[in-house]
Amino acid sequence: MLTNFTYVRPNSLEEAFKHLSSEKSRVHAGGTDLLGCLRDQVFEASRVVSLNNIKSLRGIKKSTHGRMRLGALTTLREVAGDSEVKKHYTALALAAAEVASPQLRNQGTLGGNLCQKPRCWYYRGAFHCLRKGGEECFAVAGENAFHCIFGGESCYIVHPSDTAPALGALGAQIHIRGPKGKRSVALEDFHVPPSDDYTKETRLGQGEIVTEIELPPPVEGLRSSYRKVRARQSWDFALVGVALALILKGDKVQKARVFLSGVAPVPWRSREVEEVVTGKKLDEGIVSKAAEAAVQKAKPLGQNAYKIPLLRGIIEEQLLAIARA
Ligand SMILES: Cc1cc2nc3c(=O)[nH]c(=O)nc-3n(C[C@H](O)[C@H](O)[C@H](O)COP(=O)(O)OP(=O)(O)OC[C@H]3O[C@@H](n4cnc5c(N)ncnc54)[C@H](O)[C@@H]3O)c2cc1C
Repeated sequence: MLTNFTYVRPNSLEEAFKHLSSEKSRVHAGGTDLLGCLRDQVFEASRVVSLNNIKSLRGIKKSTHGRMRLGALTTLREVAGDSEVKKHYTALALAAAEVASPQLRNQGTLGGNLCQKPRCWYYRGAFHCLRKGGEECFAVAGENAFHCIFGGESCYIVHPSDTAPALGALGAQIHIRGPKGKRSVALEDFHVPPSDDYTKETRLGQGEIVTEIELPPPVEGLRSSYRKVRARQSWDFALVGVALALILKGDKVQKARVFLSGVAPVPWRSREVEEVVTGKKLDEGIVSKAAEAAVQKAKPLGQNAYKIPLLRGIIEEQLLAIARA
């Protein structure tokens, strides 16, 4: 059941910051995650602050030195369908197209996709788990088929976003504004691992808003992809996923950035895969070695060891697809 809250729709960021000063204020973008959280009482809000009248937060545009800026309120449908994103930042277009269903992509925004709450059924359900201020993570001894195999420490969620790993692979910067001014963080530093703080998902402080996501200029030889495996063909979150951004020179990999989804509490950078493929030709031997390296440090729980061969398989598949493109 939804409890009562005040709903405001400011016309500027400055006005929004005033409304967001109290701890019980929440940002509303598309609302596809926020309203579910309020209904299920994952957290409370006394005031919901819609960003929808702030026009500067919308749209995709080229910025200085060939960079690309995507406003936080840009919908996932717009990201997935933009011709420049598809051409130069393929992994992001593919990832946005993999989120949920057409209806949710019409409504859901890129900023909301990065800031959404985890989908752990204990966290979302009527359980006073560690992340909600309780004493334990119920997934450790409970139903953990969809939980993490990397980076679990005290809390074993997986990060639910499809676009975050793609943005990580592409080297995105997240631009943030708040009552104290502007700042930017790399995508890979934006999310908080449980080892740092198991009660937070992002580095946003009180009243701060993601305003834009910025991508570096397209580089010659860049090939990127996003592949997600889900339990069913219809809308679903990733069981495992991989975002690759490789810069090829001739038939060799000059630079690689690899992020995994569905396997860790944050978009998980696989430096192991990056190290194996950098400087190498992507032949079957290297690809198989890279996929093996990716899973070496996995620590499955009781019911999710199936993620290991699945992950190995899609890493091989995607590296070979890039090599043969
Ligand atoms: C049935 C279903 C299936 C889904 N499947 C997927 C999936 O397969 N993959 C996937 O990645 N996601 C999935 N989602 C999750 C989610 O709805 C989408 O990711 C969507 O992009 C969230 O965006 P939104 O604009 O609706 O966010 P909102 O619901 O408005 O906000 C989400 C959270 O982010 C905060 N927030 C929003 N925008 C900002 C901002 N600019 N600055 C600071 N904080 C902000 C809000 O306060 C809230 O806590 C699914 C959701 C549902 C309901």
